[in-house]
Amino acid sequence: MKKGKIIVLSAPSGTGKSTIISKIIDDPRLRLEFSISATSRAPRGVEQNGREYYFLSHDEFMKRVANDEFVEWEEVYAGTCYGTLKSEVERVVGSGNNIIMDIDVKGGVNVKKIFGKDAIDIFIVPPSHDELERRLRGRATDSEEIIRKRLDKAEFELGFAPQYTYRVVNDSLDQAVAEVSDIILKATEQ
Ligand code: ADP
Ligand code: 5GP
Repeated sequence: MKKGKIIVLSAPSGTGKSTIISKIIDDPRLRLEFSISATSRAPRGVEQNGREYYFLSHDEFMKRVANDEFVEWEEVYAGTCYGTLKSEVERVVGSGNNIIMDIDVKGGVNVKKIFGKDAIDIFIVPPSHDELERRLRGRATDSEEIIRKRLDKAEFELGFAPQYTYRVVNDSLDQAVAEVSDIILKATEQ
């Protein structure tokens, strides 16, 4: 059976990655499964362990790093780690489905380096800094301190956009969803 591809979606937090993924995840043409990352942060809002993330303590996360269980991992925010488990990628691509990852810019660039032509790397660009701020505040799930940390990091993250093979602006959500679907359809046909 043909192995699935690895699809990477990266963007500054608040740009709309999760929203876009939720709109395409059940499209049968794309054969997608979401890559559940491990993180050392606490669940937010309605998030559940094993659905959005595997929520681990910092110690448990570091134990898995020492055991070489990650494809890649990053301390995305000071003191908070996120990583893609090897077991997660093997489970999905082995079944012939494509795995879609919502991971940070450094992780995305690393995954592309590791998997080469088996990875489809897409950067989602916010329409403007002001709109990004509105979306982060509108989500109403983070404290002011966390929102500031994420906005401060956005400029740094946008600097990685040119390294990605594909860039899609998330201004009109419908258009961004159509563009991302089209990229995945064309690239997984090859
Ligand atoms: P991310 O996963 O990149 O951190 P989210 O998907 O959580 O971002 O989106 C952040 C907020 O912006 C959410 O409240 C979402 O509903 C909103 N949003 C996403 N895409 C758009 C869009 N194209 N136009 C307006 N609001 C959007
Ligand atoms: P959030 O806390 O908003 O869910 O995610 C914060 C950031 O962590 C986002 O930029 C997201 O893409 C990134 N992230 C989530 N999972 C992973 C992962 O497995 N690896 C890396 N490198 N980044 C991740």
